[in-house]
Amino acid sequence: MKPAAFEYARPKDWSDALQLVADGARPGTGTQSLGPLLNLRLAQPETIADLRHLPDYAGVTVAGDVLRIGAGTTHAAIEDGIVPGRVGAIMAAVARRIAYRPVRNRGTIGGSLAHADPAADWVAVLPALGGTAIALGPKGERRIPLAGFVLGIFETALAEGELLRAVEVPVLPESARWGHWKFCRKVGEFSKATACLLRVEDAAPRAVLAALDGPPLVIEDARALVADPTGEAARVVGEVEGLTPWRSAVAQAALRHAVEAAT
Ligand SMILES: Cc1cc2nc3c(=O)[nH]c(=O)nc-3n(C[C@H](O)[C@H](O)[C@H](O)COP(=O)(O)OP(=O)(O)OC[C@H]3O[C@@H](n4cnc5c(N)ncnc54)[C@H](O)[C@@H]3O)c2cc1C
Repeated sequence: MKPAAFEYARPKDWSDALQLVADGARPGTGTQSLGPLLNLRLAQPETIADLRHLPDYAGVTVAGDVLRIGAGTTHAAIEDGIVPGRVGAIMAAVARRIAYRPVRNRGTIGGSLAHADPAADWVAVLPALGGTAIALGPKGERRIPLAGFVLGIFETALAEGELLRAVEVPVLPESARWGHWKFCRKVGEFSKATACLLRVEDAAPRAVLAALDGPPLVIEDARALVADPTGEAARVVGEVEGLTPWRSAVAQAALRHAVEAAT
């Protein structure tokens, strides 16, 4: 199918973009998720505001111990090493396994978070890294911890009229240990269960279990999981409602593998 007719707008700055959205325009970035919605006519906006040319929308800046990653930064740029240091190495490895290179060339970290598919990679990984979303609305910037950003399937904590401008991630020491495991039936498919574990010296390990058709489950203190991966994975997954036995087994395996990889 082809999309219904729409107007194309290219805002020149952020206030222009906010005005367009206030007037009912749908924001678009890489259109890797928006495109299918338009083609299937699940979305029929009168206007699409193409955010890609906004200043500072793509790219990475370092301020002290925080990395600020523009929401318009593509998965490909992250794969190619635009994010420095230990965080960059972790994120490059994650980006490399998102879809295929043509999708990664256009798809962006911000578009992915705003789309809020529970199976999307950044939805799982960024809460584990302790990230924060930077939303911009008519009243200015608002900081939203990524652990609480995705609220459900295609549902985020962005308020009406807000745009996702950037994400911030704390710099990690080189000694930080990372485990990430996702189960896909074939390369390029969305995950059926994803788990991540971050271990930093002198801090409680943080874990995330995601891609289970709901918001990511963030375990801020995952010491019990590290101590007893099998028992704790069974307990954690047992509390998730509505999983088939197969999905439950894959989710437990994801947690166990993530712990193993980070140990
Ligand atoms: C074949 C295929 C396979 C894929 N496989 C994977 C995969 O394995 N893992 C994975 O994580 N993803 C996967 N994706 C999704 C891909 O990562 C997309 O890049 C991502 O979901 C959306 O990013 P985008 O920049 O294209 O956003 P868009 O498609 O432009 O927008 C997505 C949604 O977010 C809104 N939006 C966009 N930008 C903003 C903003 N700044 N503020 C507020 N709202 C905004 C739009 O209105 C729309 O609702 C796949 C996509 C395809 C087509």
